[in-house]
Amino acid sequence: MQDIILLQCASCKNKNYSTTKNKKNVTDKLVLKKYCRHCRKHVEHKETKA
Ligand SMILES: [Zn+2]
Repeated sequence: MQDIILLQCASCKNKNYSTTKNKKNVTDKLVLKKYCRHCRKHVEHKETKA
């Protein structure tokens, strides 16, 4: 049950990263602080469906 998900910038809504998540183990929504090249700074990225 490994799902591909996209990480969307909370500021500009660009989908900058993709990752996988094991739904069995991780039920919470992923929120990661990552660099956004569009915002040119670190922004919270939220999980969204691929
Ligand atoms: Zn951004």
